[in-house]
Amino acid sequence: MSFKLAIVGRPNVGKSTLFNRLVGRKLALVDDTPGVTRDRREGEGKLGDLEFTVVDTAGLEEAKGDALEARMRQQTDLAIAEADLCLLLIDARAGVTPLDRHFAQLLRRSDAPVVLAANKCEGNAAHDGLVEAYELGLGTPIALSAEHGQGLGDLYDLLQPLV
Ligand code: GDP
Ligand code: MG
Repeated sequence: MSFKLAIVGRPNVGKSTLFNRLVGRKLALVDDTPGVTRDRREGEGKLGDLEFTVVDTAGLEEAKGDALEARMRQQTDLAIAEADLCLLLIDARAGVTPLDRHFAQLLRRSDAPVVLAANKCEGNAAHDGLVEAYELGLGTPIALSAEHGQGLGDLYDLLQPLV
């Protein structure tokens, strides 16, 4: 059975961009419109000599209120249930948001191993968000730029002993 990495997080943090980078093809639609990924999507990820399955999770923006929470919960639960490792992605430029905290809380309570990654870390605008990420209680965040392919070495180091 192949190792499964689920990319979890609120809309627009760059989950699909990271998914595409790991899969090496544009299988997932990347868009500025939050909530553009309608379904969970799976692909064969490659990072150096590692091969694993990557799961991209849907955005949740269309639902509101209780429905939003229910759908977020459902998506997260599905991703957690299937995954060998959950990667909680946040947007370091936006900083930690209430929705990020909600995801972190769900993941902290689960048995699934979780790693935290802060995306959009290229340049200087991300520094405060990266520091803020520690407050999520999920350990040291990996600094990534999915768009520019930065931080993938740190992701490799983390996955290498597991895959
Ligand atoms: P998702 O909703 O979490 O799947 O996010 P997407 O992958 O669709 O990306 C949302 C937006 O963030 C798009 O405009 C991407 O181009 C942009 N984005 C993704 N990764 C990065 C990054 O590393 N740096 C910056 N500056 N923008 C990014
Ligand atoms: Mg997406």
